[in-house]
Amino acid sequence: MTEFFVPKHIVPRITPDAAEFFAGTVREELRIQQCDTCGLHHHYPRMLCPHCGAETLHWVTASGRGVVHSYTVIRQNGVPPFNEQLPMIVALVDLEEPGARMLANLARIEPEAVEVDLEVTAVFRPASDEYSFVDFRPAVSA
Ligand SMILES: [Zn+2]
Repeated sequence: MTEFFVPKHIVPRITPDAAEFFAGTVREELRIQQCDTCGLHHHYPRMLCPHCGAETLHWVTASGRGVVHSYTVIRQNGVPPFNEQLPMIVALVDLEEPGARMLANLARIEPEAVEVDLEVTAVFRPASDEYSFVDFRPAVSA
């Protein structure tokens, strides 16, 4: 068993609906749900499609690619571990899979370099044997 230190106040509560998502993060797979009725994707996991209300959902592995829809730069926070990560960028990322949007840390970039529509890629930050945190970083151009 690998040892990690994650403060209790940021340990996610892994609900039955979200178990597949968290299990995927350990394998470095971004698991999201897709609706069989309307075809759209979504994140976070839930029982009903947020786009059309259908219950006909299945899991897919997202590419991890997306673009910044919006973001904010956090420059003040007195709570560990966030106080050691300032300035911290939190972004809403529109995944490549239509309909899916994620809220996540945007890492490995200076705040001044972030812009709407910036291409980003998911990166997995191991936190325990049961889950990893999902961050995004700027996509590496070919
Ligand atoms: Zn739907």
